[in-house]
Amino acid sequence: MTTFPHYQCTQCKSSFSLSPTLYVCPHCRKKQKSEPLNGILEVVNYGSPRIENIFSFLPVERKYFPAVPIGSTPLWKVQNPHSKTSSIELYVKNDTLNLTGSTKDRASYLVTALATKFNYPAICVASTGNAASSQAGLCACAGLSSIVFIPEKTPQAKVLQCQHYGAKIFKVAGGYDQAYQMSLEYTREHDQKILSRNTAYNPLTIEGKKTVSLEIFRDMGKVPDYIFIPAGDGVILSGVYKGFRDLVDYGFSNHVPKIIAVQSSQSCALYHGLYQGKFDQNYQAQTIADSLSVNIPQAGYLATSYLSKYQGEIMLVSDQEILDAQRELSLNTGVFAEPSAAAGYAGFKKYQNFKLNSSVVLLITGSGFKDMDRAASLSFNPVPLISSVGEIDLFTTREKQR
Ligand SMILES: *Cc1c(COP(=O)(O)O)cnc(C)c1O
Repeated sequence: MTTFPHYQCTQCKSSFSLSPTLYVCPHCRKKQKSEPLNGILEVVNYGSPRIENIFSFLPVERKYFPAVPIGSTPLWKVQNPHSKTSSIELYVKNDTLNLTGSTKDRASYLVTALATKFNYPAICVASTGNAASSQAGLCACAGLSSIVFIPEKTPQAKVLQCQHYGAKIFKVAGGYDQAYQMSLEYTREHDQKILSRNTAYNPLTIEGKKTVSLEIFRDMGKVPDYIFIPAGDGVILSGVYKGFRDLVDYGFSNHVPKIIAVQSSQSCALYHGLYQGKFDQNYQAQTIADSLSVNIPQAGYLATSYLSKYQGEIMLVSDQEILDAQRELSLNTGVFAEPSAAAGYAGFKKYQNFKLNSSVVLLITGSGFKDMDRAASLSFNPVPLISSVGEIDLFTTREKQR
């Protein structure tokens, strides 16, 4: 128990050895479906991890991971004449370049390694779409089966990805919260054969996502001043905090950056939790940013306690601001993001309190190709069909006359 990574309850601090059948702390878990999870477990006790070897910060041996690269996505400083970021160094961490196109791969990668280590043939997940397509993809790589529960309104591209990866797919009447409960019920009925990858519930989902912080630190050679993160359930947010906390705990840095979580004003349960001190059991999210659409954020208690402890903030942006940000992000950085992933950029544009000369990282969590219907719903100039170059002048004249 002392030399290996083990679980510790984030609330009562009890320790448990790492096991695929343990999800949340048995002492702290409460039964209500209508509140965030109590007793989320975290992984502690890595000994002497090394920043050059990110696997040394993970609790499953490297040989069990699927043989496919995940993470180490590009990070670069944005230099664009259009962007008005004079006194700010703006960096983009492009997690759309993960295997299945989103940050979720970081968690699926680690959960898949756990399933492989303990001989689970299948992994089940509830998801607004990205965790499902991600887990389906990683299961395909590892030769495991995947079972996914998704809301009926999941964007078509995410469903198609799951189909291509061979997942068993169930569309659930209702939203993510219904899918979440059904997937838990289903997994419980097949306890020994199916591992749950439900986000926040399986502790390794948070642990897997922390690798993005380790990479940011490794690639910048320092902790940035600010990081903007789109948030729904608050698992990416908690994972990012866990990564920076590990860097402090294992002696690599002496502080945690200021983290700004960004939510749609139409899906802002975490915001209520942080600033009003409670989660509304009857809250109904309704946003075009489907990956952020959550009524009861599973990692709500953990994420808000991190934000309080490290002076993080939550900003709200409107759906229109998210759509404007989606287009502007493409123009200014070259990254084509799905609306949820562009929300962080919308928050960045709106934020007023930057210290002079600060470094800012935008975590871009998911690809624009994952929701083509939404991308197509923005208004663009019509694309002309031509049969000779001569027609171009004619067309341009018409454009001017509009
Ligand atoms: C899942 C997801 C988020 C939100 O992450 P949470 O852990 O639910 O807060 C943001 N953007 C994208 C693209 C996602 O897939």
